[in-house]
Amino acid sequence: MTDSGVLDQLGRPLRDLRISVTDRCNFRCRYCMPRERFNEDHTFLPRRAYLSFDEIEKVVLACKPLGLEKVRITGGEPLLRPDLHELVRRLSSTGVEVALTTNASLLPRQAARLAEAGLDRVTVSLDALDSKIHSQMTDSSIPVETVLEGIDAALRSGLAPVKVNCVVQRGVNETEVAPLVRRFRGTGITVRFIEYMDVGRTNGWQLGHVVPSADLLGYLQGEFDLTPVESDRPSDVARRWAHSDGSGEIGFISSVTEPFCGDCVRARLSADGRLHTCLFASGGHDLRAIVENGAEGQQLTEAIAAIWRRRADRYSELRSEETSALPRIEMSYIGG
Ligand code: SAM
Ligand code: SF4
Ligand code: SF4
Repeated sequence: MTDSGVLDQLGRPLRDLRISVTDRCNFRCRYCMPRERFNEDHTFLPRRAYLSFDEIEKVVLACKPLGLEKVRITGGEPLLRPDLHELVRRLSSTGVEVALTTNASLLPRQAARLAEAGLDRVTVSLDALDSKIHSQMTDSSIPVETVLEGIDAALRSGLAPVKVNCVVQRGVNETEVAPLVRRFRGTGITVRFIEYMDVGRTNGWQLGHVVPSADLLGYLQGEFDLTPVESDRPSDVARRWAHSDGSGEIGFISSVTEPFCGDCVRARLSADGRLHTCLFASGGHDLRAIVENGAEGQQLTEAIAAIWRRRADRYSELRSEETSALPRIEMSYIGG
């Protein structure tokens, strides 16, 4: 271990842990959980397999001496997990920054108690403002207005900063990009456009479905006067651009065309307690078994450090036809 914690094979520290609290969702976004695959025949994790809030807290506490600074609660849809604010309260009291990624459909009801429990920031996934495109993409009857109400509830509850993430797919929602920028300009909300990724094996991803961020930026520069902004941290995955009149920022996450594995300081914990060192990992390390065997504190820290030290993942930098054919875990399981 070094002063900055533990380093992997490529010299990267562990700073960020994404915690999936469920693999279930009330949306069926076609790029993530296509309904024909995630239906009544799909075997979701049994709820008894979920890590308890107590166990999740133990893992977070064990990661802290390794340099962990931030956790992000995700899923599936994390707000489906009952009493999620209780997890937020526990994690917040460990002293790490606590963020949440959600589809916001349940935020109107839950924002106030999440804020009160100490949630530091929220990212809302919203791919379209147009109700027809939104319902086609999410394959759900929950209207886009509910998502917008969720964003308002977050702001009213003092949950700032709020970010909006939009996955852009060619021929599906490119037309929504400029309206999203217009809608959130001047609100303090940053919209970030994410390149559609080849996560999992069910969404039929093809390179041709990806809209490169450079193309989007060029297109948006036709309407908006945008200037580049320096990132605060090298591990910031988004390239930031500001409206020159000071009315806010937008961002681009270009995992396909400009991979950022060299600065990837992120681990992922699945709802059933497997630790994954890469979004594209084909397997995880069973931390639940270690926690259930009574390990906590130093012993758990050492087990996680040993996993991290062996890490050499850089899938996005190596992406090729050969790597695309490898087995991969679904985003709804590993947590986006
Ligand atoms: N249900 C929550 C939500 O949608 O915000 C949290 C989990 S979701 C898996 C996390 C993020 O992953 C979302 O912003 C979603 O858009 C993104 N995502 C899912 N599949 C993706 C893909 N194939 N490429 C890029 N982003 C993806
Ligand atoms: Fe659910 Fe989020 Fe996946 Fe959409 S992206 S299906 S909201 S987990
Ligand atoms: Fe990190 Fe893996 Fe994504 Fe590279 S491909 S940025 S190592 S999660």
